[in-house]
Amino acid sequence: MTLHSLDPRAPWVLSTHDLGRRPGSMRQMSPTLPAPVNIGVGMIGVPKDADVELDIRLESVMEGVLVTGTARAPLSGECARCLEPLTSEIEVEFQELFFYPSQDTAEDDLLLDGELLDLEPTFRDAAVLALPLSPVCEEDCPGLCVECGTRLAEAGPDHQHEKIDARWASLQGLVKNNNDDQEG
Ligand SMILES: [Zn+2]
Ligand SMILES: [Zn+2]
Repeated sequence: MTLHSLDPRAPWVLSTHDLGRRPGSMRQMSPTLPAPVNIGVGMIGVPKDADVELDIRLESVMEGVLVTGTARAPLSGECARCLEPLTSEIEVEFQELFFYPSQDTAEDDLLLDGELLDLEPTFRDAAVLALPLSPVCEEDCPGLCVECGTRLAEAGPDHQHEKIDARWASLQGLVKNNNDDQEG
């Protein structure tokens, strides 16, 4: 179990004061919170302090407070094919039970600190899982020219280099060798 003192002024620390402890009581809230630092993998992530729009339901249960919700967050990063900057957004769903400290809890369980709970780790886990591993600027982004690195979406379909294809070159060599055999 993780029990540490929560800072009530931290943006992702929510108060369950209005909820009370009677099982079945519920509260809805729709806060907009600043994105925590370091939510990203590889080439894309949620920019720090970007607006994360939440729809949350707090529900009092026997063991603690059940939090169910959705979060919408902007993304910024780079296209995995052409390396151009791109922006996008994710919407994630999450559900987490925050236990009363008096409960018999396991190592990884999240606990209430008095009337406070910290939603940041829950959002972080959900957001990281939802990030695209290979973000692309357009579904059919053609990427970069392997010869010169030009962005093919801008260069157009006619972009090519005056150079003999490697397969064609070896075929030419083969034909020449055959001729040599005939002559010899
Ligand atoms: Zn691209
Ligand atoms: Zn090129």
